This record gives sequence, C-alpha cells and structure tokens, in this order.
Amino acid sequence: MSETEHQIRLATFEWLKRAVDQHGDILSRELLAKGFEFRGERIPLVAPQGIFKPRQCDVPLTITTTADGPYDDGLTSNGLLSYRYRGIDPEHRDNRGLRKAMLEGVPLVYFLGIVKGKYLPVWPVYIVGDEPARLTFTVAADDHIGIDNSINQTAQDPAPRREYITRAVRQRLHQRGFQERVMRAYREHCTICRLKHRELLDAAHIIPDSEPDGDPIVTNGLALCKIHHAAYDKGVLGITPDFEVAIRKDVLIEIDGPMLKHGLVEMHGVKLFLPHSKCDWPDKERLERRFNSFLG
Ligand SMILES: [Zn+2]
Repeated sequence: MSETEHQIRLATFEWLKRAVDQHGDILSRELLAKGFEFRGERIPLVAPQGIFKPRQCDVPLTITTTADGPYDDGLTSNGLLSYRYRGIDPEHRDNRGLRKAMLEGVPLVYFLGIVKGKYLPVWPVYIVGDEPARLTFTVAADDHIGIDNSINQTAQDPAPRREYITRAVRQRLHQRGFQERVMRAYREHCTICRLKHRELLDAAHIIPDSEPDGDPIVTNGLALCKIHHAAYDKGVLGITPDFEVAIRKDVLIEIDGPMLKHGLVEMHGVKLFLPHSKCDWPDKERLERRFNSFLG
C-alpha cells in the first residue's frame, strides 16, 4: 500500500473521531457522502454500493450495510460480524478488493446501518475470513490500527481481543438501533407527557433487556422523558395494557409542588401518545406483564 493511501486511512480515522465528537456516535449518510478534504482533494466515505474505495486508494476504505431489520446486524456464530459479497461473483473487483484487505491486514471502516440514512461507524475493522460458498466475508472490530507490519509482529494473537471488541460493538449496535427506532416511532415525544426534547428523552424497555423477551424491538419500547422513565422503572407509575397511565395510589393523594401535581398526579388516566403505525405500538402482552408487577 502506498504512503498516500496509508495517510488517507489515518486521516479517515481522525476525521471520524472528530465527527463522532461533534455529532454523536450515529452519523448521517449525507455527512459520510460529503467526506473530508485531503491534500486538496475530496475523499467521500460512502458510495451507492456497499464496498467503497476512493479513487486514490488500491484497497477499499469502507464497507456499509443498511438497516434491514432489528436483528440484521450480520452477526456470525463466533461473535464476529459478517459482510456479504457484492453480487454473486466472488471475483467482482469489490470482492477482490476486500480479499486484498484481508491478505494485507488493511484496516477499514464499517458503517452499520441503524435506521434509514443513519450509521454507526466502527473502526478499525479487519477482514479476517472469506467464505465463497456463503458469499460472505467475516469482519472483526479492533482497537489497534495494525497498518504497520512491525506492530503486527510484536503483538500477541489479536483474535481473542477482536472477538471481545466485536461483541461490544454488537451490543452497542443493538442499543443504539433500539433507541433510534423507538425515537423515530414516537416522533421524539414522551409517550406520557408528549415532551418533545430529544435530549430529555430515553428509549425505555417494557420488559427489561436483562430478561427473556426483553428484546430491543420497538414493540418492547416506549419513548419516555427522564422523569417518566425513572417513575416507570421505580414503580411510581404504571402503564395498562390499554395504553393508559396509572399513578401509584399513595402518590396520587400526596400534596407537593408543581412537578408532582402536573408531572405525575395529572398524568393519571392519560392515554399514551402512540406511534402512527399500529405495528409499532407497544405489545399488550408485555405491557400487561409489566403492569402486573407494578400492581404487585
Ligand atoms: Zn414525560
């Protein structure tokens, strides 16, 4: 790999770091398509195809997946990520490019689609496996940029570390995907009080993610403001399977300031603000289970 290409990769990682500091860990397609300037030339980071190689480079720089569904994170059985070939020809130049990245140990960026047009960037990632029979590459995330071979030689076997880091990426992917999908479904409103300040909203689980059925799916989620999220988790309020708010009896008769009066007591009996699409509505069976534990 040329010195220029090496520098482009390092500049890409630096740029991503700054972009995440500035915009948060989810980046828009628009921003990635614009990319950055390197020695007077623009380096975009995505293209319509999933495997992208800037014209200044010999080896692809980024790979991108779209969000096809809540579980489509391309996880392989060994805890690593997978990436589908472009098309069905293993010798397509894009597939050859990724094979080259694998053989040369070149670090790439993986843009994991969270919702339409939004991506979680993960870097560096390495292509560590190639399965022509499944038309799939295996991808591992890492925290070491092993572009320089001398680093590779002195390091111990990177596989266990990469597996560990990739599992953490997978977890973050699930969490961030859940948050984004819940926020989108509820148009960034608290489902109880309709507060519309994204920075004060959480994507809450109906059945906690530590339990079976605590899936990171919209129907197991509720967009709640911080106070209503905490009140829901602490059993100060419950939500009936008929999408109605119930405030705990002892709190209902309590006399206190405006937060208690307007924020809690007056919410008793309020109907939830629900997503437009019925298939995104909270699952009644899950609500009922949670409501029963609130009553208990
Ligand atoms: Zn609220």
